[in-house]
Order: sequence, then C-alpha cells, then structure tokens
Amino acid sequence: MTQAAVVAQYITTAAFVALGVAIAYRWYRQPGRAQGMLAVAIILLGLVAAAGRLQDPNNPNDLIALFSTIGFLASGYFVLRFRHELIPLSRRALWAADGLLAVSVAVSIAEVVWLRGGAGAGGWTEIALLELIGAWAIFTGEPIVRFWLASNRLPAVQRARMRFLGGGFAVLIGILFIAVLGGSAFQSPTAVLVTQLVALTVVPAIYVSFAPPAILRRIWRMSEENEVRAALQDLLIFSPSRQVLAERAVYWAVRLMGATAGFVTSADGKLLAATGMDEASAEALMAQHSDTPDGRVISAPLHLSDGQGTLAIVAGRFTPVFGTDEIAQLKAYANSVSAGLARAAVTERMAELESGKTQFLNLASHELRGPVTVIRGYLSMLESGMLGQLNERGRKAAAVMSSKVTEMNELIEEMMEAARLEDGALSLRLSECDLRDVARSAADGAATLLDGSHGIELDLPDRRVRVNVDEDRTRTIIANLLSNAIKYSPAGGTVTCQVRSSAGAARVAIIDEGLGIAPEHMSVLFTRFGRVITPETEHLKGTGLGLFLGRQLARLQGGDITVLSTPGRGSTFTLHLPTVAVAAVSANGAASETAASERAGATTD
Ligand code: ADP
Repeated sequence: MTQAAVVAQYITTAAFVALGVAIAYRWYRQPGRAQGMLAVAIILLGLVAAAGRLQDPNNPNDLIALFSTIGFLASGYFVLRFRHELIPLSRRALWAADGLLAVSVAVSIAEVVWLRGGAGAGGWTEIALLELIGAWAIFTGEPIVRFWLASNRLPAVQRARMRFLGGGFAVLIGILFIAVLGGSAFQSPTAVLVTQLVALTVVPAIYVSFAPPAILRRIWRMSEENEVRAALQDLLIFSPSRQVLAERAVYWAVRLMGATAGFVTSADGKLLAATGMDEASAEALMAQHSDTPDGRVISAPLHLSDGQGTLAIVAGRFTPVFGTDEIAQLKAYANSVSAGLARAAVTERMAELESGKTQFLNLASHELRGPVTVIRGYLSMLESGMLGQLNERGRKAAAVMSSKVTEMNELIEEMMEAARLEDGALSLRLSECDLRDVARSAADGAATLLDGSHGIELDLPDRRVRVNVDEDRTRTIIANLLSNAIKYSPAGGTVTCQVRSSAGAARVAIIDEGLGIAPEHMSVLFTRFGRVITPETEHLKGTGLGLFLGRQLARLQGGDITVLSTPGRGSTFTLHLPTVAVAAVSANGAASETAASERAGATTD
C-alpha cells in the first residue's frame, strides 16, 4: 500500500474519532434519548475506525477483530434505535432487529473463532462478511429511506439535517459493500485512497446533521423566508381577533417548525387554539407544564398583557425531535405572536368599548327622554300658574330648573341623534334654502348664550348662498360651532360667523379668539365623546358629541367640517356644503372634492 493510502486511512480514522468525541460532548451538554442513540452509534463508529488502525494487517488480533465487528454492528443497531425514537417502529420490527443483531453477533464470533482459524474454508468468510454488512445496511438503510421520505414535509433546517445524516450513512453503506464485493481489486492502493477520501466527506455531513452551525441553518432557512414573512403578515396584520390570531399562530408554528401538532394557551392557562390534536390531548400536555426532555414537545412563552401564555409544538411520528435551533426560532416567533395578540386584544377592547358606547347612547337617550318630557310639562305648568301661584323665590327656582331641563333636553337630543346615526336610522329632510338665513337664525339662537364679554359678528355675502340641506340640522351644526366658540373663549372676544361661497362650494366659518387647540389634541375632536381635557377646559361642561355629530351630518349632506387652530390665539371651524348648482350635478362628488381640496390646508381631517 502506498504511503498516501496509509496517511489517508489515518486521517479518516482520526476524523471519525474526532466526530465521536464532538458528538459525545454535545450529547453531554444537551442530553436527550434520541440524540443519545445517535451519539452512541457515531462514537462506536469512531472506536471501530480507531481499532482498525491498531490491527497489524499481516497478523490480526482476533479480540480486536471481534470487538471491531460487534462495535460496527452495534453502531448500525443504534442508528435504528435513533430512528425508533423519532419515528417509532412496531414491536415486531423491534424484535426482528434484536434477532438480527443476535444472529449477526453469533456470525461475527463464528467468523473470528472458526473461519479465521480454519483458513476461511470455501468462501464462508465472504458469506459471513456479507451477512454482517447486510445487517448493518438494514439497520442504517431503513432509517435513511424513512428519514428521506419524512423530510419532504419538514421545514428547511430539519429537512437538510435529515438528508445530511441519511446521505452520510448511505455513503458508508456504499463503501462497505463495494469493499467486500470488490474483493482484491478493492485492496489496491488507489482504491483505498479513493474510498478513504470519500469516507472522509461523510464526517462533516454527519456532524452538521447533529449540530449544524448557525450560518448553515440560516442558509438552509433562506428558502423559507418568504413563507415566514407571509405568515407573520397574515398573523399580525390580518387577524381580526385574538381567537383567529391564536388559531393562525399555532397553524403557522406547526408548519414552520415541521411539527405535527401544537397549541396556544392564554395567561390563565386556558386552551386558546390547537391544531393537529384534539382538546383532550392538548389539555393533557398542558398539565405537564414543561417541555419533554426528549425534545418531543417544546414551548415558548407568550408575553400577554394579562400574564404569560404558551405556544407549544409537538413532534409526531414522522417529525424529528426539536433542537436548540427550533427552540430559538419558536421563541422569536412567539414574541411576534405576543405582539399580534396584544394588538388584537386592544382592537377587541376598543370594539367592546365602542359597542358599549352605542348601547349607552341608545339606552340613556330613550330612558331619559320620557321623564324629562314629563318634568318639562310640569315645569311649564308651574311657571304658567296652572298649578297655583308661585311666590318670587318659587318663580326663580322654576326658571333655573327650566333652563337646566332645556340643557338636559338638548343633551338627550344629541344622544338620540348619535344613536340614530349609529343605527343608520337617520333620515335627512332636504330642502333648498339660503345659507345666510340659516347662519343668521343660528347666531340669533346663540346670542342667548352671550354674557357680555363676547360678541357675535355676522359676516354675510350680499348674494344668496343656495344650498340643498336639512335646514334644522344645519342650523344645529352652526349653533353648536358658535356655542363652542363662546364656551372655549372663557376670556371673551369676538366670535365671527362668516358665510362665503365660491366655485360650487359654500362655507360657514366660525372664528373665535379663544383657547385654541394644540396639534396633538386635534385627532380627538371629531370622535364620539371626544373631548380635550386641559386645565383651562376641564371645568367646562360638554359631552364630546357636538363635533362628532356635526361632521357626520355635514358629510351626509355632501360636505364636511374642518378646523384650523393656534393654541392661545383661537380657532376657525369651517362647515363646508355644496351649493345647489353643484349639488344638482352630484350630491357628493364635486362638492366634497372642493371641500377636500380646501381641507388640504386644514390641520385635521
Ligand atoms: P363638547 O363641547 O360637548 O365637549 P364637542 O364635540 O363640541 O364637545 O367638542 C369637542 C372638543 O373640542 C371640546 O371638548 C373642546 O375641547 C374642543 N373644542 C371644540 N370647539 C372648540 C373651540 N372653538 N375652541 C377650542 N376647543 C374647542
């Protein structure tokens, strides 16, 4: 044998021993039954390779030969046991494997003791060798095929690991068969050199299947990145509720990790969603409260607003156990799911609050209306003397009560209007009118609110401003804007009500010199019950319904309300409405386009 072939043999042996040591170390760091089986198999291969180097080819030691053969058989047997840990074999198959191992051990003893001693009579040595290698090939070949088939539906990392492992053992089987069947031709130095080099390539293949470095895992996973991205988008953006999100999250977790089943629990330990398993099995696993040491079940915490939930996945018959890579991946994924669940919880809470508000509006307005009507009736009877004459103090008290009941009535009207809007039960009574008249009558109504420190200035054009609107409601909108302008100008000042029309669009701008509104508060103005509470406004009464209703009613009529404001200097609220000529062409289109273009300069929409 040439020097090169001998060196190659030593290198390959050293590589297999190093592989055995590395895998033993990893197994020591992360013990697990399945990994243990594979570790034993590979350590045995390393030992067998080392024992081969100890043999003197011209004068082989029988004991070392026996040890090598049995160690070699056992290495194959442990590969099968590894397969059994991942994809369980039937009891009969296990018995058959044990039987084959026993027969093969007997053959190896016979081969060493009798056949070698008896000068290998009549080709029996060859037959014995073929039996041994055949048994080894069955022990390792069956798992290779099984893993290859199972790997098709696994995520990229698992798939690559399975294939590297299978590929590594397939090469070893090939080398062994060629070596035995090739006979003396295979003993040539060149053949030895080539087979040693091929066997050498098996070492890294098996090592990466056992402990793939992060970079390799990342490369393997690249092909899946689009899928992961789509999954997260589906999860985080398009899941309407916590329930749906939990169901999708567990579905994707199972798919991405190549598991067969999984479940999600809430912070209070209830099952939120399960896939690939029934509720009873999920609950049985939940009761364990921990991952199984063999890596069949792994879980990651979900950080929810009300505590810690769990996302767990379960390996199945055709899926391998999970390693550190999968645990890390599942944890990162669980963090995204936590964020999604938090978002869905907020959305659900907001929907609940919104529906609560609607119910409150309906209930309160309907329940209050009757009693207030009765109180108003009796008050007017009291004031008119129908129930007997009141003295001076009684008349004053009745006047105060009457103004308060009027306030209450206005509030109830607002609430009923908001409730009608919610129910879609609001119908407009459109008629053609002059917006100047509507503004004038609203200003007259608001004049009763003036306390001397304010003044209302009407700035009306000379020409009619023809609009086709619900006159009463439009008056209410303008009156509300005027009353706000007065209310939110506690230091007094002039409130201007300016009516203009141009290019098919009419506008009523209510300009005040009051408190103004800070930019960060703009977004609440037109929301239902939206109020800006500051030290200057907290003592002022209001419901936060006026602007909400005003904008909704304006929009129903093809217009809008916009606002421009400077804190400390004052605000301008503008009601936009289409004029008749435009309204006739399109109730909504052109007019709202004009309104929109004007709104471009407004601070809020
Ligand atoms: P309300 O006046 O009943 O609170 P609105 O819907 O009419 O409800 O107004 C919503 C909020 O907008 C008010 O609470 C107030 O903070 C702010 N706002 C409305 N009009 C003005 C204004 N002219 N100047 C300053 N702030 C205003």
